[in-house]
Amino acid sequence: QTLKVELGERSYPILIGEHLLQRASDQLQEVGIMSKSKLMIITDQHVAPRYLASLQAELEAAGYSVVAKVIEPGEQSKSLAVYENVMTEAIKAGLDRKSAILALGGGVVGDLAGFVAATYMRGIDFVQMPTSLLAHDSSVGGKVAINHPLGKNLIGAFHQPKAVIYDTATLQTLPKREIAAGFAEVIKHGLIADETFVTWLEQEADRLGALEADAIAKAIYQGCRVKAAIVSADETEQGQRALLNLGHTFGHAFEALSSYSTLNHGEAISIGMCVAARLAERIGFAKSGTYARTARVLGLYHLPTTWPAGMSPDAVLEAMKRDKKTVGGKLALILPRAIGSVEVVKEIDENDILSVMREEA
Ligand code: NAD
Ligand code: ZN
Repeated sequence: QTLKVELGERSYPILIGEHLLQRASDQLQEVGIMSKSKLMIITDQHVAPRYLASLQAELEAAGYSVVAKVIEPGEQSKSLAVYENVMTEAIKAGLDRKSAILALGGGVVGDLAGFVAATYMRGIDFVQMPTSLLAHDSSVGGKVAINHPLGKNLIGAFHQPKAVIYDTATLQTLPKREIAAGFAEVIKHGLIADETFVTWLEQEADRLGALEADAIAKAIYQGCRVKAAIVSADETEQGQRALLNLGHTFGHAFEALSSYSTLNHGEAISIGMCVAARLAERIGFAKSGTYARTARVLGLYHLPTTWPAGMSPDAVLEAMKRDKKTVGGKLALILPRAIGSVEVVKEIDENDILSVMREEA
């Protein structure tokens, strides 16, 4: 299955299917990355032992000259120190303006490698090769970033990939908890823009949970389709793109207050989408039943839907205000109108937010 992201004059393909990495060189040729080019594969220590050698061999057989950089897994690799280290190796390996970076891994690898590509010699090509389910979200849209000790994703760029090559067979080795976290973003895309997709996710939870190939390809396709449509309309986040943050202002606060350990990103936004739906019903914005269905579909994918134990609603509100998405101190949140339809709601009364959170806690 192939999707196309259209961005003004440019467009790039999102290829989704089993064993695509076995023919990666064909796909690179198709997007104009020619076989005399030097490539740098960036990947992590969980992904490298499983998928790096075969990918590298396939590319070298097709005439590419390939270097690989394996980073430590986890969010802490989205750092200035790792960025500098990767840059040093890229320079030493002699990458030039015609070279390309291949991001083989989850969202951490994609964000870091994308930022390296965005800034190496003022920008070189890169290709996303996602290996986690969550990366269906991070690999599309061109936002690339690393973290600063004072905040997540504060150092970044908009740099679109030349292509996204999504080999769904790699998901077979992804830990269960990471699968669930990925489904949180898949479900989010349905909740934002596509009720029919939500209904399908409700019906197919068993097949999707078992990672059946055709079902998982369709789920990724639909999730990417929603994201691609919104990004195409708003590449640099002036308006519409904010809708993709459903559940994220709450979620980021939960992540921060759990010190990025007890809750992962998907789990945090799962709870965040539930609280957003509850609040939307409370202030008369959403159709009744929106919350119940939101929580139900997330629960089908083994995601948490209830308030994080012991977390103080007042502390959550403070963390929400610190989140970079707040404008002028007033909280603007993405809230559902109904399943499959969300809007930006500006200047929400803090007391409404607090009272809903206090009931949940
Ligand atoms: P991740 O890259 O850390 O991957 C999760 C874990 O799974 C890691 O331990 C990784 O090594 C492992 N893994 C990945 N693929 C595997 C495979 N096939 N088999 C076995 N293990 C595998 O995290 P993630 O959840 O993929 O992405 C999270 C990151 O994405 C965050 O840094 C977040 O900020 C970023 N993100 C970016 C955007 C964007 O638009 N750029 C959007 C959403 C999230
Ligand atoms: Zn997210």
